[in-house]
Amino acid sequence: MLLGDDSETDSGSDSDRLQRSRIVPLCCTMGRMNALLLKEYKHLEMVEMPQPEIGPDDVLIRVRTCGICGSDVHGLDGSTGRRIPPLVMGHEAAGEVVETGAEARDLKPGERVTFDSTIYCGRCYHCGRGEVNLCDNRQVLGVSPGEYRRHGAFAEYVAVPRRIVYRLPDNLSYESAALIEAVSVAVHAVNLTPVVLGETGVVVGSGMIGILTIQSLRAAGCARVIAVDPDEGRLAMALKMGATATVNPKTVDAVAAIQEMTGGRGADLALECVGAQEPIRTAIHAVRKGGSVTLVGNVAPKVEIPLQVVVSRQLRLQGSCASCGEYPAAMELMAGGAIRVEPLISAVAPLNEGPSWFDRLYRHEPNLMKVILRP
Ligand SMILES: [Zn+2]
Ligand SMILES: [Zn+2]
Repeated sequence: MLLGDDSETDSGSDSDRLQRSRIVPLCCTMGRMNALLLKEYKHLEMVEMPQPEIGPDDVLIRVRTCGICGSDVHGLDGSTGRRIPPLVMGHEAAGEVVETGAEARDLKPGERVTFDSTIYCGRCYHCGRGEVNLCDNRQVLGVSPGEYRRHGAFAEYVAVPRRIVYRLPDNLSYESAALIEAVSVAVHAVNLTPVVLGETGVVVGSGMIGILTIQSLRAAGCARVIAVDPDEGRLAMALKMGATATVNPKTVDAVAAIQEMTGGRGADLALECVGAQEPIRTAIHAVRKGGSVTLVGNVAPKVEIPLQVVVSRQLRLQGSCASCGEYPAAMELMAGGAIRVEPLISAVAPLNEGPSWFDRLYRHEPNLMKVILRP
């Protein structure tokens, strides 16, 4: 690290350089690595690039698995503006420690770890309140929205701050660990939702996050969880993963069906995991008076809210963003079996097959949930 700084300015003798090179771990300052680079929009390519450098607070990790997130697929064509090329994407990853900075020595090389996707500053007002997901200087790994570019984990190595790194329980595989971020999103949303043991919840949307939310609600004490989705295959998966009933809004009036299942009263709570007008309307109409609706999905920039329903039935609308300290809980729930992720893994493939898997996800190939790449 120091050598890197020196060598820029100091053209010392060869023997000097040799001397100094001995104290520098070659793997990190000089090494190259393979990475899956978004070179331009819609164009992913395997490239060789320098390994990331680490600062005193950082950990260099040899990436073993990295999941393809829906946001990576959306980012591919530039529609979200959050993946400006050139960029190494990837924020759902796990691997082993290779090297640590001076302030991160409690982690040892070889330890199995995962890391949060949100990098928070630790100094702003919200960080001071423990709301690290709301950090004013928040950066997301594998994202480049313009103000910053933070290369992610579709690469052999990634460098991340120590404060977002977590040791993996022994019984969690690297493949499962690639889903911890998604689990933490579901756990955070449920933590923001008032749940009393024995209540009935509705989860609108049975994609990845929806299924994890169903499992989290069961773990939180919901006796019944009703899954709502227009896709029968997803509803079958929801049932397998803990939903106690399903509703297909394509074939029945979803709100009427939920009212009927709850004695005409409505469910105690609903979580919306799609982020669009109709599913949000369903969630709001599905809950009883005084019930709560937690909004997790985030796709449509604007939706209409039935104001009088919300006010006169005294509903609580709660937004939920990413996660905030839920990694340890997510890992406990997974390690203990309360949340299962293996059935959600559609494929595990080498990193160099990344471009074709991205393509298949981009074209919405049916029955693909989580695809995990191995650098
Ligand atoms: Zn993600
Ligand atoms: Zn902050």
